[in-house]
Amino acid sequence: MAATLITGAKVWDGLADGPGERRDVLVEGDRIRRIGTDVEAPQGAEVIDLSGHTLTPGFMDCHTHVTVTPDIVSAFTKSPAAMALWSLPVLRTLLMNGFTTVRDLMCTDVGYGIVDLRDAIEAGLVDGPRMLVAPHLISARGGHGDFSTALAGQYQGSPPPLELAAADGCAEIRTRVRQEVRAGADWIKFGATGGFSSPGDDPGQTTYSQEEMTALVAAAADLGVPATPHCYGDEGARRAVRAGVRSIEHANLASAETLKMIEDSGVFVVPTQYTVIDDARNAFEEHHWKGVPAFKPRKFQKYQKALLDSAENLAASEVKIAFGTDAGMFPHGDNWREFPMMVSNGIAPVRALKAATSVAADLLGLDDLGVIAEGKIADLVAMPGDPFTDIQATGRVDFVMKQGTLHKRPDPGTDR
Ligand SMILES: [Zn+2]
Repeated sequence: MAATLITGAKVWDGLADGPGERRDVLVEGDRIRRIGTDVEAPQGAEVIDLSGHTLTPGFMDCHTHVTVTPDIVSAFTKSPAAMALWSLPVLRTLLMNGFTTVRDLMCTDVGYGIVDLRDAIEAGLVDGPRMLVAPHLISARGGHGDFSTALAGQYQGSPPPLELAAADGCAEIRTRVRQEVRAGADWIKFGATGGFSSPGDDPGQTTYSQEEMTALVAAAADLGVPATPHCYGDEGARRAVRAGVRSIEHANLASAETLKMIEDSGVFVVPTQYTVIDDARNAFEEHHWKGVPAFKPRKFQKYQKALLDSAENLAASEVKIAFGTDAGMFPHGDNWREFPMMVSNGIAPVRALKAATSVAADLLGLDDLGVIAEGKIADLVAMPGDPFTDIQATGRVDFVMKQGTLHKRPDPGTDR
């Protein structure tokens, strides 16, 4: 069995309140076998010296779109094969950034190519983070996931390309949920409210009734699959919690009362602050919106105060925050920037780091991941320095191991 002994790094296990002491970590096969001081390397083991580094569990991004590029029209008009091929460098970038697991919450394929991509990674055909997928965004017609407005120029007179995910009324919603699960979905994603990047709606609008959300989550639960909504507005979040969702994406317009309701119900929030709060802060800065259609800055101007207030309330709450970025809406290589953005919004570094490791694993139901402990799967990343005192260190990951396989190691010549 292949063995690797990692020495010299301070080890943060994903749970403690600060970086731990220097420890040796022995990996055998795909598991962490031993953690201790002066662990002896078995014969033939590779020894990797990570002095000056902090070793953490592999990061998890709970909200990506690996098939989406900032030019969403071009993403949606690729063939299924092109969609998969263009995703390959994206998957590699995410892995090299230290993200060993992602939950992908909507692809641009009218079919289920994203399920094949997930399985290809699992089978070892393709390098990338392990994936959990919600292939499509189930949405009311005219809602956030109805891309027919944005794509009208490409599809004049032909049916909207993502009709597959459009659903109105409980009966049609149940059909869509079952279709997604039968095709291999790990999660169900749905649009509870409007959004900022969709031209035809408003983030404050609620786009499914209570009855519809309850039917959707129940249909998924019957098949053993959790659901998570795209959701900004306050009322949408309240309905989603009542319906029984496991997490809420964004939730950036949730009031203090709603955040309390979310906290009490144990629902996770994936606040995707890197895009949303950056846009809110720059709502009135003309240079920030160069080349962006006018409807978008208008929405951020309208909701600027509510977004910034809600971010402050989230930091003050005890809501279970899981790390997620919406990468794809911006270049995937920047997804680590969610860490410093969370910290700049008042979220403690340890909470941000847990959000991407132990808390994310809890959200995703991955019991063998998200922590560094003997017997767990060896998803390990390391960065020079200490992310607890310098959160920017999360952007300098230079060691990546996924399931015991080494994907990146520091240059031997690098100054420490
Ligand atoms: Zn998204």
